[in-house]
Order: sequence, then C-alpha cells, then structure tokens
Amino acid sequence: MPELPEVETIKRDLESKVKKRLIKSINIFEGSERLFIKKDINFFSTALIGNKIDCLSRHGKYLIFSISNKKYLIVHLRMTGSISINPSNSPMASYEKIRFNFDNNFSMSLMDIRKFATIDIYSNLVNFNQRIGPDSISHDFNPAFLKSKLVARKSSIKSALLDQSIAAGVGNIYADEACWDAGINPLQKAFLLNDDEINRLCASIKNVLFESINNRGTTINNYKDLLGNSGYHQTKVAVYGRVDKKCLRCSQKIIKTRVVGRSTFYCSKCQEL
Ligand SMILES: [Zn+2]
Repeated sequence: MPELPEVETIKRDLESKVKKRLIKSINIFEGSERLFIKKDINFFSTALIGNKIDCLSRHGKYLIFSISNKKYLIVHLRMTGSISINPSNSPMASYEKIRFNFDNNFSMSLMDIRKFATIDIYSNLVNFNQRIGPDSISHDFNPAFLKSKLVARKSSIKSALLDQSIAAGVGNIYADEACWDAGINPLQKAFLLNDDEINRLCASIKNVLFESINNRGTTINNYKDLLGNSGYHQTKVAVYGRVDKKCLRCSQKIIKTRVVGRSTFYCSKCQEL
C-alpha cells in the first residue's frame, strides 16, 4: 500500500504534469463505481470539467488537487491504486478506472486492480482535515501532539501509529521502521511511553519518512511511480520484511509477529519490551 513517501513521490512527479492544466473531459470506465465516495457521478464530472488544476498537495496518504473553482479533488490509492500520465489517445490500460483528459492532449489515469482506491470532491478542506491528524512530516506533528494522543491509548504503539488520526501517512512499513529506529518495541503499550521515547519516536518517524522520500518510496508488493518504476527504499529497510535476517545494529535475528492483523517486524534486543 502506498504510504506517505510513495504518495509524496507521486505528488512531486505529477505536479509539473498537471499544474495549470484544464480538465477538458473525463472518461469513467466500466466497473469504477466503487471509486466514488459520493455516488453521484454527474456531480463529479460537472464539478471538474472546464476547470483548471491550480496546485497539488498531500495530507497523509491523500493526494489533493486544488481546482480553479475552489473545489478539491481528493484521491486515496489504498492497496493497489496507481496513477499514470499518457497521451489522451492511448488505449485503455489494464484496470484503468478513470481518465482526466487535459487541454495539452495528455491525460491522467487512475488504475486499480483491487478496487479499493477512492476519489471524492470537497468544497473546503476544513471538514477533510478534521478526519485525520496532522501530516507526519509537518511541524504540527511533534512530540507534544504525539504525547497528547498516546497518553490515554491502551493499545500497542504499533496500533496507535497506524491510526491516521495520530500519524497521518504512516502505514505498516514505516511504523515498524520508526519503532526500530527509535529502539521502541512495537508491542509496547502506547500510554507507557515516556517523554524521551516519544521525542525519539517522533524524530524517527520523520527520519524514516524523509529517507524514503529521498529514495522515491518502498516497493514491496506493487507500488509504482508515474512511469511504472519501483522505488529504491526496499533495499534500505532495517526490519520490515527482514524476518530471521540479522539486525543491522546488533546482529540478533529479526522477529516477525502480528499486531492488529498486520505483519510486524522488530529486534527483541534493540527494542526490548
Ligand atoms: Zn538489534
């Protein structure tokens, strides 16, 4: 699943391709009904066609297109969604769900094998922003904020980090990487973390996310960038997917377990419970 660094990579690549482009028409392909949060597809088309994309931003794992009519097109790629830019007359791609045709004879397409990706339109971002916490690489995601969210949290810290109202943009891979980087056991009860640990964890979350952005994201299963290329960060991960391999810090074997149904990797020596 694309997490913050993967969506950020897509956002950065897309920016020059779609910024200031006018949406001339939209093709909605068969079987794409689940894509739309608001089921009124006519509303969706009329809200966008004839308008320009002013700019592009990202909040957590959401891509946000600011439209010239003051509306926002918000895309979440979920498990297997991907985006590509192609000439408008290209044949329909496999699993293509929707195509936005621009005034320069290029199009932006959204593909999705497993059909969990979503698109939605908002009139303002206030309602949207209230649903998720501050973006994990923003200044608002800081130790004071993290502490306020963890203080009464009875679940494990891994489970807390997967909660998008706490660490928006962090998913399964970076939660494990950040816990290892901070030397915190992912099974530790969230409310038991002391101030030092929260400071370390907050810094580690940002470190692992920025490092992965620099490596254009992590491709474990299917994440691809706009051109269909994989990221590079999978060769740099410390624990994720490295069960029975040596810990990069202490050479102990990495352990795999499950937390809230998600594969979880850690070193029992560096990340003592
Ligand atoms: Zn270790």
